Amino acid sequence: MAYVYDDQNIFAKILRGEIPNSTVLETKYSLAFRDVAPQAPDHILVIPRGPYVTFDHFAANATDAEIVDFTRTIGDVCRMTTLDPDNGDGYRLIANAGDHGVQDVPHLHVHILGGRVLGRMLSSTD
Ligand code: AMP
Repeated sequence: MAYVYDDQNIFAKILRGEIPNSTVLETKYSLAFRDVAPQAPDHILVIPRGPYVTFDHFAANATDAEIVDFTRTIGDVCRMTTLDPDNGDGYRLIANAGDHGVQDVPHLHVHILGGRVLGRMLSSTD
Protein backbone atom coordinates (compact mmCIF):
# COMPACT_ATOMS: atom_id res chain seq x y z
CA MET A 1 0.00 0.00 0.00
CA ALA A 2 1.36 3.40 -0.96
CA TYR A 3 1.69 6.14 1.62
CA VAL A 4 -0.79 9.00 1.32
CA TYR A 5 0.51 12.26 2.79
CA ASP A 6 -2.01 14.35 4.74
CA ASP A 7 -1.08 17.97 4.06
CA GLN A 8 -3.31 19.10 6.94
CA ASN A 9 -1.06 17.52 9.59
CA ILE A 10 0.34 19.91 12.17
CA PHE A 11 3.93 19.79 10.91
CA ALA A 12 2.78 20.61 7.37
CA LYS A 13 1.06 23.66 8.87
CA ILE A 14 4.27 24.61 10.68
CA LEU A 15 6.22 24.31 7.42
CA ARG A 16 3.69 26.59 5.67
CA GLY A 17 3.99 29.14 8.50
CA GLU A 18 0.36 28.68 9.57
CA ILE A 19 1.37 27.64 13.11
CA PRO A 20 4.28 29.16 15.07
CA ASN A 21 7.24 27.11 16.20
CA SER A 22 10.37 27.53 18.26
CA THR A 23 12.96 27.13 15.52
CA VAL A 24 16.41 25.78 16.37
CA LEU A 25 17.81 25.42 12.85
CA GLU A 26 16.52 25.92 9.31
CA THR A 27 18.11 24.51 6.18
CA LYS A 28 17.10 24.20 2.54
CA TYR A 29 15.43 20.82 3.07
CA SER A 30 14.91 20.52 6.84
CA LEU A 31 13.56 22.31 9.89
CA ALA A 32 14.46 21.74 13.55
CA PHE A 33 12.23 23.11 16.31
CA ARG A 34 11.52 22.51 19.99
CA ASP A 35 8.85 19.98 20.92
CA VAL A 36 5.82 21.73 22.44
CA ALA A 37 5.55 19.08 25.19
CA PRO A 38 9.17 18.22 26.02
CA GLN A 39 9.88 14.80 27.49
CA ALA A 40 13.41 15.81 28.54
CA PRO A 41 15.25 19.11 29.21
CA ASP A 42 16.27 19.11 25.55
CA HIS A 43 13.62 17.83 23.14
CA ILE A 44 13.96 18.95 19.55
CA LEU A 45 12.19 17.64 16.46
CA VAL A 46 13.84 17.55 13.05
CA ILE A 47 11.60 17.25 10.00
CA PRO A 48 12.22 17.23 6.27
CA ARG A 49 10.40 19.96 4.34
CA GLY A 50 9.18 17.37 1.83
CA PRO A 51 5.94 15.37 2.20
CA TYR A 52 7.20 12.19 3.81
CA VAL A 53 5.16 10.20 6.32
CA THR A 54 7.76 7.92 7.90
CA PHE A 55 11.46 7.21 7.83
CA ASP A 56 11.05 4.33 5.36
CA HIS A 57 8.89 6.54 3.10
CA PHE A 58 11.58 9.22 3.19
CA ALA A 59 14.48 6.80 2.65
CA ALA A 60 12.79 5.28 -0.40
CA ASN A 61 11.59 8.50 -2.03
CA ALA A 62 13.65 11.50 -0.96
CA THR A 63 16.46 12.84 -3.12
CA ASP A 64 20.06 12.29 -2.08
CA ALA A 65 20.27 16.03 -1.31
CA GLU A 66 17.28 15.82 1.05
CA ILE A 67 18.68 12.76 2.80
CA VAL A 68 22.10 14.32 3.25
CA ASP A 69 20.59 17.59 4.48
CA PHE A 70 18.26 15.85 6.95
CA THR A 71 21.03 13.65 8.35
CA ARG A 72 23.45 16.55 8.66
CA THR A 73 20.80 18.77 10.29
CA ILE A 74 20.19 16.17 13.02
CA GLY A 75 23.91 16.02 13.73
CA ASP A 76 24.28 19.81 13.61
CA VAL A 77 21.47 20.24 16.17
CA CYS A 78 23.17 17.73 18.49
CA ARG A 79 26.39 19.73 18.28
CA MET A 80 24.67 23.16 18.54
CA THR A 81 22.92 22.10 21.73
CA THR A 82 26.12 20.40 23.00
CA LEU A 83 24.27 17.12 23.43
CA ASP A 84 26.95 15.35 21.40
CA PRO A 85 29.12 13.14 23.63
CA ASP A 86 32.19 14.92 22.27
CA ASN A 87 31.15 18.07 24.17
CA GLY A 88 28.24 16.98 26.35
CA ASP A 89 26.52 13.99 27.88
CA GLY A 90 24.77 12.35 24.94
CA TYR A 91 21.31 12.05 23.44
CA ARG A 92 18.75 9.67 21.97
CA LEU A 93 17.15 9.78 18.52
CA ILE A 94 13.64 8.38 18.06
CA ALA A 95 11.55 8.16 14.88
CA ASN A 96 8.11 6.70 15.59
CA ALA A 97 6.18 5.19 12.67
CA GLY A 98 2.66 3.88 12.35
CA ASP A 99 0.40 2.30 14.95
CA HIS A 100 2.94 0.12 16.73
CA GLY A 101 5.44 2.98 16.74
CA VAL A 102 2.70 5.18 18.24
CA GLN A 103 3.22 7.95 15.71
CA ASP A 104 0.87 10.88 16.37
CA VAL A 105 1.91 13.26 13.59
CA PRO A 106 2.04 11.70 10.08
CA HIS A 107 5.02 13.72 8.86
CA LEU A 108 8.47 12.20 9.41
CA HIS A 109 10.16 13.61 12.48
CA VAL A 110 13.20 12.57 14.45
CA HIS A 111 13.05 13.35 18.16
CA ILE A 112 16.38 14.46 19.66
CA LEU A 113 16.22 13.97 23.42
CA GLY A 114 18.81 14.79 26.05
CA GLY A 115 19.71 16.81 29.11
CA ARG A 116 19.15 13.96 31.54
CA VAL A 117 19.77 10.24 31.77
CA LEU A 118 17.01 8.81 29.59
CA GLY A 119 16.77 5.31 31.03
CA ARG A 120 16.60 2.09 29.08
CA MET A 121 15.41 2.26 25.50
CA LEU A 122 11.95 0.75 26.09
CA SER A 123 10.32 0.99 29.49
CA SER A 124 6.72 -0.02 28.86
CA THR A 125 4.70 -2.51 26.82
CA ASP A 126 1.59 -0.24 26.87
P1 AMP B 1 5.07 11.34 17.62
O1 AMP B 1 4.26 10.64 18.68
O2 AMP B 1 6.39 10.68 17.41
O3 AMP B 1 4.28 11.53 16.35
O4 AMP B 1 5.43 12.76 18.22
C1 AMP B 1 4.77 13.95 17.87
C2 AMP B 1 5.41 15.04 18.70
O5 AMP B 1 5.00 16.28 18.18
C3 AMP B 1 5.02 15.04 20.19
O6 AMP B 1 6.19 14.91 20.99
C4 AMP B 1 4.32 16.38 20.38
O7 AMP B 1 4.59 16.95 21.64
C5 AMP B 1 4.91 17.19 19.23
N1 AMP B 1 4.10 18.29 18.78
C6 AMP B 1 2.79 18.29 18.46
N2 AMP B 1 2.38 19.50 18.06
C7 AMP B 1 3.48 20.30 18.11
C8 AMP B 1 3.72 21.68 17.81
N3 AMP B 1 2.75 22.49 17.37
N4 AMP B 1 4.97 22.18 17.98
C9 AMP B 1 5.97 21.37 18.44
N5 AMP B 1 5.80 20.07 18.73
C10 AMP B 1 4.57 19.54 18.57
